[in-house]
Amino acid sequence: MTAIDIAGTHTDATAPPSANTAKLADLADVIARFTAVVSRRLPDDVTAELKRLAREETNPMATMIYQTMERNQALAEELKRPSCQDTGLVQIFATVGSHFPYTDGLAETLKSAVAEATRLAPLRHNTVETFDEYNTGTNVGSKSPWIYWQIAEGRDDLTLHVYLAGGGCSLPGQGKTLMPGEGYEAAMKFVLDVMTSYGVNACPPLLVGVGIGSSIDAASYMSKLALMRPVGSHATNPKVAALEDELQAAIDSIGLGPQGLGGTRSTMGVNIENSARHPSVLSVAVNTGCWSHRRGTIHFAPDLSYELLTHQGVEL
Ligand code: SF4
Repeated sequence: MTAIDIAGTHTDATAPPSANTAKLADLADVIARFTAVVSRRLPDDVTAELKRLAREETNPMATMIYQTMERNQALAEELKRPSCQDTGLVQIFATVGSHFPYTDGLAETLKSAVAEATRLAPLRHNTVETFDEYNTGTNVGSKSPWIYWQIAEGRDDLTLHVYLAGGGCSLPGQGKTLMPGEGYEAAMKFVLDVMTSYGVNACPPLLVGVGIGSSIDAASYMSKLALMRPVGSHATNPKVAALEDELQAAIDSIGLGPQGLGGTRSTMGVNIENSARHPSVLSVAVNTGCWSHRRGTIHFAPDLSYELLTHQGVEL
């Protein structure tokens, strides 16, 4: 007898599950429960930064909004419900060791996990097939969840960043390839223009991810990857780290404040990722994470024991 699973793969329902299949099912279960946690509880670095921003805020309205955010987090945990109604589209950055024992079937496992997390969390049904315009109802669809794969040669483990990309915080995402000679100043002006035009839509305070590279696709990828870096981290290149601070100060000076209603700070941070580039090409892209920056990192050892790197003290 042949069945079709949620990913559309034909499986033999009468065959006993192999050891590998059982392990992949365990893996999917853990990732599903982790994704549900990510939907309701912010990562430790974001929580700490929001608390710090709240302490330093002097604007009464902004202070009240930070208090509301804190209450939101307490209620989300107490009620076991997502912290925002827009639970986003799931994106996953997977760094897979070349010797990780469960690479076969991993992509389907991640899809299964997202479908299960949709039921568990519950996640809002946010996956609509482009052009055909129907909601899949599982948060699984064509090339969705979007997965960025990276191979870690010589390693036997698996690290996943699970990111719930909300509509509002995805809205400011833009990129541009500058004319030769425009330089880094034009790249920073581009980012600032996007922030002044669209930053308010993304529920500040924002984590701003910037990618700079040799093509628009590379810059775009790196701008999202930058959002996986912890709040408060800096690029290893001191010139880039200084640029992160300068750009953050500039975006803060816009005065968006929490939820765009005015306040001392507009950002949680600015993270810049870059790659080597063609000498005459400089592409820049920007992506934003909102105050409810639901990003989680989980590490699996080859025996599938796991550690939550962003949510200390949480049990799945
Ligand atoms: S921007 Fe973030 S907090 Fe605002 S509605 Fe979207 S997902 Fe929710």
